[in-house]
Amino acid sequence: MTGTAPLRLALDGAALIANWRWLDAQSGRAACGAAIKADGYGLGARPVLDRLADAGCRDFFVTTWDEVRALGALPDGLSLSVLHGVRDADMAEATTARARPTLNTVEQVKRWKLAGGPTCDVMVDTGMNRLGIAVQDVADGLLDGLNIDTLLSHLASADEDVPQNAQQRTAFAALAGRTGARRMSLANSAGICLGPDYHFDLTRPGLALYGGIPRGEAAGHIAQVAHPQAQVIQRRRIGPGQSVGYNATFTAERAMELAILNIGYADGYLRGFSNRGSAGGGRFPVIGRVSMDLIAIAVDADPAIAEGDWIALDYALPEASAQSGLAQYELLTTLGHRFDRVWM
Ligand SMILES: *Cc1c(COP(=O)(O)O)cnc(C)c1O
Repeated sequence: MTGTAPLRLALDGAALIANWRWLDAQSGRAACGAAIKADGYGLGARPVLDRLADAGCRDFFVTTWDEVRALGALPDGLSLSVLHGVRDADMAEATTARARPTLNTVEQVKRWKLAGGPTCDVMVDTGMNRLGIAVQDVADGLLDGLNIDTLLSHLASADEDVPQNAQQRTAFAALAGRTGARRMSLANSAGICLGPDYHFDLTRPGLALYGGIPRGEAAGHIAQVAHPQAQVIQRRRIGPGQSVGYNATFTAERAMELAILNIGYADGYLRGFSNRGSAGGGRFPVIGRVSMDLIAIAVDADPAIAEGDWIALDYALPEASAQSGLAQYELLTTLGHRFDRVWM
């Protein structure tokens, strides 16, 4: 491994690919794409794209045109969609770029038609009330004259078993053949787990690619991809009655051995892990409050740990989510800029 920072994100490329392959297989006859927005959920959009493209993934999703630019030149034969569509300010780029917008609003559709824009995608709202044109607007002919690659909708509660899932699916399925779109796409990671009724022509997982478990069906099939590691700055001994860290939220009942690690909430290891997180596969509990740049862990279990050693934080997403109170998504997207991101 290369890199010189005192903290690194070890990224498991084989796990990323295996996760995509599982999601692709679960997607059945539908193609399986990849959401690489927010810099590949914090892991690095370009290295994720390169690895998944090599594995056979053809459809990628980002949020903004800034994210398109950040990807640089793309390999041939890939499809890239910009989920937030086009503002006026994006039009020059959007009508010439290798990416296409996902049009979300009546204004965006009009803007695209007026400019005679090339192929686009369109998002329809089937009940999330976040982005997307109304089903009624489709019926009223708003999309007539557009050259649509993929018609999308987005599930609001696919990680739960609630009637809203089937309601959205039914509303979306009713649009089949109504728009001239070449493909239809509804399912995110959790939606893939809901079964074949939800897959349509193209699925769009994000979270599960990166090791998130969106629903029980994925447990045991999805592997951790991002492994934060930090170097020990100092090993120190504290006595009974001594406290640790800001606001002394931990007081030792006995003599203890601590290691102070070069990572903190500025790196995305947020304060929810204070007195709750762990490292070394559960052997080293986090002691006291997480600071901006530092944490303390108890290392009584390993007398050999010393300055300069690398310690792996426990960051399997479902467990880390339970420890910290953060969503699995937040655990990924808050990972900071001080890590060396090192693909294994
Ligand atoms: C982020 C996003 C996805 C991916 O969702 P996950 O829950 O991370 O799998 C798919 N579609 C849209 C429209 C999104 O915004």
